[in-house]
Amino acid sequence: MLRDRMKLRFAPSPTGFLHVGGARTAIFNLLHARHFGGRMLLRIEDTDVERSKQHHAEQIVSSLQWLGVAWDEGPVYQSDRLDRYRERAEELIASAKAYRCYCTVEELDAERTAAESAGTAYRYSGKCRRRAEAGEPQPDDAPHVIRFKVGSGAIEFHDLIRGDVRFEAELIDDFVLIRSDDHPTYHLSVVVDDIDMEITHVARGDDHLSNTPKHILLFRAFGASVPSFAHLPLILGGDRKRLSKRTGATSAEEYRDMGIVPQALFNFLTLLGWNPGGDRELISFDEAAQLFDLADVNKAPAVFDPEKLLWMNGQYLMRMSADEIHPHLVPFLGDDPRPLEELRAVIELNKSRARTLKELAELMTPFFTDDASIDYDADAVKKHLKGDDLAGRLRELHDTLAATEPFDVATSEAALRALAEARGVSAAKLIHPLRLALTGRGASPPIFDVAVVLGKERTLRRLQRLIERLPSLV
Ligand code: GLU
Repeated sequence: MLRDRMKLRFAPSPTGFLHVGGARTAIFNLLHARHFGGRMLLRIEDTDVERSKQHHAEQIVSSLQWLGVAWDEGPVYQSDRLDRYRERAEELIASAKAYRCYCTVEELDAERTAAESAGTAYRYSGKCRRRAEAGEPQPDDAPHVIRFKVGSGAIEFHDLIRGDVRFEAELIDDFVLIRSDDHPTYHLSVVVDDIDMEITHVARGDDHLSNTPKHILLFRAFGASVPSFAHLPLILGGDRKRLSKRTGATSAEEYRDMGIVPQALFNFLTLLGWNPGGDRELISFDEAAQLFDLADVNKAPAVFDPEKLLWMNGQYLMRMSADEIHPHLVPFLGDDPRPLEELRAVIELNKSRARTLKELAELMTPFFTDDASIDYDADAVKKHLKGDDLAGRLRELHDTLAATEPFDVATSEAALRALAEARGVSAAKLIHPLRLALTGRGASPPIFDVAVVLGKERTLRRLQRLIERLPSLV
């Protein structure tokens, strides 16, 4: 019965970082599996020895883990299964569905050049196919590839996203299954694995659509049932061209390093080409899994809007607790980050003002700077350090706050406002210089919250320092 169970797979080739398009494919596979109570396998397609690298495989695995794509099985490495692919290719030779081809690169190049100069589409001449069919003896030690015998007729399938798709077998060459270096091609390894691993649904990028008829022929040749296919439309950049480095970051890691939290990137990618109805923008994994179906994915390409991702990340930061944010924030806090206990209140205070973890870390710096090394922003100095008897005003503010007991948001605010009233100035004339004293900046979270988080002692010390600096600042 287990065979009937839905199973999907994400099958990246480890030739680089996890591209956001790949990350979305992984997410869609996972959501579909979760929605229908199926499973998801992670398979590393590393049979291309030239281009595949173990460190890329490891990076992809860790990016997926970071993103929260929790697969059920694997990672399985295709490089561990090379014998299996050879074995299955031999089976196809034994059943006359494939043959050894001894044509040399030079011969094939000559055929290709001849076709080009004749202005016809190149197709393999079928020389070795005819030899095999005539039963000519075949030296299996001479260099050769193994080719699949493509028949004729239409190859039709129903794509969950694109609907009915049809290819003509006549247009498909006898494609290679095993290369002359004895390594399988993608077509062979992917189908052998999808059969052995009991995959029921293949959801992958649109760029594989033209491979699918070949795969269907192979499934049939092996007498296996053909899985359902869903070809995901491209992701476009702001320039409406395929998303690429030209227009910004393309790997999940780059977004991580920019300070995007994985939950936000997951949410964002989930909505690239799918929507849960209405104009809903924020959706949890569980809700998405409840609603998701590959059949509802848009046919049209999705456009990747980095501004929207930043907005969404800000929404996540605003909603997450300091404790949830903390593990993601640590890499942005420098070499010697303080313990969570010291950071918690500062994170809470600043999290709704940042769009990225990088921005959040930056907003937090004044809280951890030495009182003696606050830098005063020149524009803010110009704007706020003026007016009659500035020094006297600030000294009185210092003494008023020093006398405030207990020192909390309500008491310190009331004390400042009472002083402003007594002096006949607007509260802003005290608030802005206070902000400058405490943070060095013209903008910050509500200043009384800042003061309380800093504590009375540091508040007074910072205020005192600004007063002492006034002659050199204004
Ligand atoms: N390994 C292929 C790729 O990275 C995907 C294969 C598939 O999903 O069938 O493009």
